[in-house]
Amino acid sequence: MAKKVLVLIEHMEGKIAKTSWETVGFAKNLTERYKFGLKAVILGSESKNLANQISKKFDVEVLYIPDKLGNNYSPEVQCDLLSQVIRQESPFLFIMGHTYRTIDFAPKLSTMLDRGFIPNCIDIQFEEGRFLFLRVVFGGKLYQQVALKGAPPYFASLQRGEYRHPGCIDTVLPRVVKLDIRVSDKLVVKRKFLNIINSVKDKIDLSKAEIIVAGGRGLGSKDKLKIILDLATVLGASVGATRPVIDEGWLPKGHQVGTSGQSVAPRLYIACGISGAIQHLIGMNDAECVVAINKDPNAPIFRVADYGIVGDMFGIIPVLIEAVKERRDLFQKQ
Ligand code: FAD
Repeated sequence: MAKKVLVLIEHMEGKIAKTSWETVGFAKNLTERYKFGLKAVILGSESKNLANQISKKFDVEVLYIPDKLGNNYSPEVQCDLLSQVIRQESPFLFIMGHTYRTIDFAPKLSTMLDRGFIPNCIDIQFEEGRFLFLRVVFGGKLYQQVALKGAPPYFASLQRGEYRHPGCIDTVLPRVVKLDIRVSDKLVVKRKFLNIINSVKDKIDLSKAEIIVAGGRGLGSKDKLKIILDLATVLGASVGATRPVIDEGWLPKGHQVGTSGQSVAPRLYIACGISGAIQHLIGMNDAECVVAINKDPNAPIFRVADYGIVGDMFGIIPVLIEAVKERRDLFQKQ
């Protein structure tokens, strides 16, 4: 019997999560490459309609569990329902998107089944009878390849990263199967879903910005931010930032670029004092031209930079500002 991969589809407010489209696309490529079977699973009382969407797009069988307790996220419910599906389906590999929910429940789920979980993978390969999970570690400085010991199923979450599969352009009939699985009677639900609160009140749309000047923790403090703002002003650019800059309260959340911020695709991205962690790179990897200023010559940002300047940004940016002022005509034309 062919080895089977099972993928979790997450959804919120009636929409399939972007990471889930990517994760199923990734799993489709993986299973086509190694000739494995593929199924997906989705929870919640409205899950049939969403199951149809994924099934038609990827020509994949989707199992849905219409238990209303699956409508809103609860780690206990998620673990209870998914552990039952996994026992029933016996997949070789169970893949999820690497989301805040997954980070919350997946270690518990894999432990319940006495199996290992590899979080935050950027690729999964199958060689000599075993899966090899590729991860980025130490803030992007190293790649790590991990194999899990013991019997399947193996659990992995996949970093967001624009994994694409051409799909079937809705030409196939959906293949969805209702599973008669319910939340166990004895389950104690310790956390109750109340409401979704949108944290980004001051959302700034960076997705259409032509030039972005982005600052990272290398700024050191909020008062140093002015140097980034000055460079952005002379270039007519928008301002982006890494997560630490937001967490420190130096800029509002709307400026964050990365997996938990915005995805941007400017013609020019100037990264100042940014190390180049994978969670940041994913948000800006569609930039046409990347200029990085960093005092560490081994900073991972230089791997994706078209132009790299090794040095102290507080010495370099003022020189850049003066140079741009002298050639303002170049930037006014764009
Ligand atoms: P650091 O990694 O601390 O790098 C600072 C850099 O500044 C260093 O390379 C240093 O050499 C350089 N530097 C210091 N002083 C100077 C100077 N004077 N001149 C020049 N260079 C200097 N991060 C995001 O950005 N976006 C996200 O959406 C995001 N989502 C995340 C989601 C999750 C679930 C997790 C776990 C993490 C997420 N992160 C995100 C955080 C991410 O892992 C990194 O921690 C973060 O991107 C690092 O930010 P940084 O480059 O500003 O800081």
